[in-house]
Amino acid sequence: MINKLTIILNEFNDQLNSAKGLEELEEVKKQFSGKDSPLNDILKGMREASVEERQEIGKLANQVRVEITNKLNLRFEDFNRAVLNEKLKAEQIDVSLPGTNLDFGTKHPLNLVIEEISDIFTEIGFEMVDGTEVELDLFNFQNLNLPIGHPARDMQDTFYINDEVVMRTHCTNETARMFTQISKTNSKSKNLAAISYGNVYRRDDDDATHSHQFMQVDGFALGEKISFANLKWVLKYMCQRLFNESVNIRLRPSFFPFTEPSVEVDVSCFKCDGKGCALCKQSGWIEILGSGMINDQVMELNGLDPKTQSALAFGIGIERIAMLKFGINNIRNFYENNTKFLDQFKFYGE
Ligand SMILES: [Zn+2]
Repeated sequence: MINKLTIILNEFNDQLNSAKGLEELEEVKKQFSGKDSPLNDILKGMREASVEERQEIGKLANQVRVEITNKLNLRFEDFNRAVLNEKLKAEQIDVSLPGTNLDFGTKHPLNLVIEEISDIFTEIGFEMVDGTEVELDLFNFQNLNLPIGHPARDMQDTFYINDEVVMRTHCTNETARMFTQISKTNSKSKNLAAISYGNVYRRDDDDATHSHQFMQVDGFALGEKISFANLKWVLKYMCQRLFNESVNIRLRPSFFPFTEPSVEVDVSCFKCDGKGCALCKQSGWIEILGSGMINDQVMELNGLDPKTQSALAFGIGIERIAMLKFGINNIRNFYENNTKFLDQFKFYGE
């Protein structure tokens, strides 16, 4: 019996030493400490032995069992530690390495200009109004003094959905909508200053400076004492904020069906300070927007009384401003989603 125990222990030691990983160690454990282990067989066979023999063999067998258990536990710890170390090594992070740049997207140049214009006007009390791109003929044309048959609503210029619905040709549709809404309120004060921006549509052939879809910001200030002098201040203030503080503006008489008087607004060239350069075509001035005082006809068409109220209005082409500000000479750049082009605006305004 004692011999058998020695053999078992030797065999166990051999197998323990040759186990190369957790799986093999599990096998050794199963073989030497399970129900069917040779050690258990010996204990079972002790029934036939004498009392003295049982005591002696029992004691020895127990020692062997403790030794096997302890050695197995120690080896398991060794292997588990080795596995953990391997894992830690693989997941090691060197915090002293430099960081890797994340490739963030950029704001679109048109959005940059819209944000800038929105800031300028909301800071002086204008509200932002959401508009609709699919508009009733009524608000896009009729209420803006563009009755049926007016040349500006010619089939060549406008996308018609049906006889009564068009893709808006300007953001001024929002002015008509707001005026009509204001005229119907019971509130005593019918004053409001608002801007609205978005896409507008014309049946244009696309080229370097024209697109069938482009963006506008339209604004108005409606009140009891709104004058042409207010309009002039608003336009100059906007240009100085948009370009630089030293620019001046120049007004030229013009015609729009919904304003009287109507003016084209030029800004003194912000690149050459009015001295003459390629950007301003040597004239020192750059044409940037159209504006005027809303005419009586339009006030009445939208339910307002031109005797007690007046309104200034302006419309700005976003692409035109963006092209001037960023020195872009092809309008198609805005719509091509070329990331090399867009990436140039990554740090604008920082
Ligand atoms: Zn110039």
